[in-house]
Amino acid sequence: MSMQWTRRQLLVQAGIAAAIHTLDPHALCCVLPAAAETADKDLFELKPVADGVYGAIAAPRYKVNSNAAVIVTGDGVVVVDSHSKPSAAQSLYKEIQGITNKPVRKIVNTHFHWDHWQGNQVYASANPGLEIVASQRTRENLTRPDAGVGGIPFIEKQLTTLPKEIDQLKDEITRATSPEVKARLESNLRQAEAYLQELQGLKPALPTRTLTSTVTLHEQGREIQLHLLGRAHTDGDVFVYLPKEKVVVTGDAVIDWMPFLNDGYPEDWVQTLTALEQLDFTHIIPGHGVVLPKSHLTFFRGYLTDLIAAVKKAAADGASLDEMKKGVGDQLAPKYERGMSKYPLGQYRDRVGTNVEMVYRKVGKKA
Ligand SMILES: [Zn+2]
Ligand SMILES: [Zn+2]
Repeated sequence: MSMQWTRRQLLVQAGIAAAIHTLDPHALCCVLPAAAETADKDLFELKPVADGVYGAIAAPRYKVNSNAAVIVTGDGVVVVDSHSKPSAAQSLYKEIQGITNKPVRKIVNTHFHWDHWQGNQVYASANPGLEIVASQRTRENLTRPDAGVGGIPFIEKQLTTLPKEIDQLKDEITRATSPEVKARLESNLRQAEAYLQELQGLKPALPTRTLTSTVTLHEQGREIQLHLLGRAHTDGDVFVYLPKEKVVVTGDAVIDWMPFLNDGYPEDWVQTLTALEQLDFTHIIPGHGVVLPKSHLTFFRGYLTDLIAAVKKAAADGASLDEMKKGVGDQLAPKYERGMSKYPLGQYRDRVGTNVEMVYRKVGKKA
């Protein structure tokens, strides 16, 4: 049975008095050109990856959406991840109805971050029998006050910070001198205001089925394996693997941008990706960016491995954090800057400093 609660009910249920969060809530948003204004029809592109398997590739937006994977089975549809807001999920749901009249029976949430689960409620309202599957850790993180950039407490946090962000955008608009900058800021303002409105009405739908180890689902002729391979981008990442179609859906444990490490476990992440590499697949539907070949896993893991080694070395040499951010950033740039800067979001230079800091805090200090 699916569960839909109001935010307040959930807060009470989880015993959360206040939303407390120490991370930058804007960490996953960015400044984008005016052309990137929210428009339903431009939110996703459904890319066929195998027979009946699609990557719903999200277009870059000021308020980011994750990719989704759509897997059509003999009697229904399984969707992996549900974006940052109900309107985005609704938009994808309409597209799914264009390819099949079967109901969406299952949602899998790869991890607890806001941009991967806040649209769950759309599928829950469309099908009261919907099953929402996630790892046990993800289910816990969705209600834990200090979990990171996702979950019920993070919705409360965003509701507090968004009005300030909106005021700031308004202020920047009045001070903007060039028409291009003004148009871009106005677009961002419209997106932020629309997002705030959606957040205020959000009825979070939490996982109804949790996993503590790898399971195989047999969905009317389609084998879908849900792998728990260890900690990576979060402590509860699920990898969705279709062995026959040789496709893996990774959430943000593999993306086509720079990784977001704040809620991650850098050294475990490398191990987990090595475990993932053992699976026989040809296509990756990543959490963000286009559908990728398996070779991207090697590139992405290489960045994490080299980043950890460089931070450890710099720390051992006595570099300050600021020296490390600059030094490691420059040191790894020839190998990774181009490949990690393909989109207007999550580019190498935007994130490498924070990545260095996160690795230093989580790994380097112990070295
Ligand atoms: Zn994401
Ligand atoms: Zn994430």
